[in-house]
Amino acid sequence: MHPLCHSEGLELFLLILGEDKTPATFPPNILKIAESIAWECDGLPLAISVMARTMKGIHNIQQWRHALNKLGRLEMGTEMEEEVSEDAEFMRNMACHILKESQRCIVRCDQRLREIPHLQGWTADLDLVSLNKNLIREIPVGISPYCPSLLTLILRNNDISSIPECFFTHMKALAILDLSQNHSLTSLPDSLSDLTCLVSLVLRYCLELKYVPTLGRLQKLSRLVISGTSVEVVPDLEMLTNLRWLDLSHNEELPKDLTNLSIDCNACLKSLCDALSNTASSSLMNIEIQSCAEMKSLFCLFGNCSFCNNLNNLQSLQLRCLQSLRVICKEDVADTVLPCAIFSHLRHFKISYCNEIETLVTAGLFSQLQNLQTLTVDSCDSLTEIFAVNSSDVDIELLMMVLPPLHSPTSPPWSCLTCQN
Ligand SMILES: [Zn+2]
Repeated sequence: MHPLCHSEGLELFLLILGEDKTPATFPPNILKIAESIAWECDGLPLAISVMARTMKGIHNIQQWRHALNKLGRLEMGTEMEEEVSEDAEFMRNMACHILKESQRCIVRCDQRLREIPHLQGWTADLDLVSLNKNLIREIPVGISPYCPSLLTLILRNNDISSIPECFFTHMKALAILDLSQNHSLTSLPDSLSDLTCLVSLVLRYCLELKYVPTLGRLQKLSRLVISGTSVEVVPDLEMLTNLRWLDLSHNEELPKDLTNLSIDCNACLKSLCDALSNTASSSLMNIEIQSCAEMKSLFCLFGNCSFCNNLNNLQSLQLRCLQSLRVICKEDVADTVLPCAIFSHLRHFKISYCNEIETLVTAGLFSQLQNLQTLTVDSCDSLTEIFAVNSSDVDIELLMMVLPPLHSPTSPPWSCLTCQN
């Protein structure tokens, strides 16, 4: 397993470049190359930091292409000397960054360490510490490394059972914290709440983890991964307005106070109920799902699915780039009254770049749409019907009556609106 997954690698890369803001300030073509460069670095935090520092401040697309090219060729082992003379500056620059970077890093992965490095090793100018895949069981009580510049701390894949309250006290710049796969970790210290620069908090497969302190002050947090944990409540989750990526896959329970659910780039999920069928979620108001390549339907509508049965306050639903999505509800039998009123409070519905779905709203769902205000359909090439309602069920007057506040529909295929005979 790579020390960082692809998206984490890209996150770190953009973070060091200072390009982690939304919306991105880089033009999309540079962003694409940045993504490839992060990819070429193979999840190695040191390589990612070096490359990011080499490219920092460069906004010329040619130079970016050139760097990617070099990196690809380095990996393939082409004549180094030739390359060096050809691109002396780039190489010198990179070498310089490697040297500097290695002095600002502790990277000790897979070395069977039983303890974290001695306090003397945690120097004030450190910006990356990765102790991935070791045997660390304990972080000594009272230890509080003074690392005001530390950006990335990776402690994943150890056996840490507790983290002292003061451990993060002098790590105020921390942006990426990965504590994944510490199976015995049951709680996180309250001082985590003060890490206001945190962008990414990854707690994947901390199986026993139950207690997470309030995250309300972590206003930069854009990614929270609590999949495969025992976390039931994430205090103040609704205050995290920058949260773009909440990964809850494989969780038994959804946090009880969750109002916004956003799932991005989850390659496992086939439907929302897959992951959340044991979950009561009546507080959930907004669902945003994008780039889940395997997602075929959203809701199951089975009578015993507590997710569907409690989803009765949903106000907005946004779907984007779900290339396998064929239906909204799996068990949606046309013309029947549905068992769950999941759409009865829905006000905003947006779907874009979903190219498998043919009928958007079946008759059963349609009858629940009395509160719909906006419906946006964009670039869904397969769509032939927006409302599968025929004249025996509903006439056009009823349609207007059922959907009184509907306004500003954007883009085709509104010509396909079916209320046909
Ligand atoms: Zn369900």
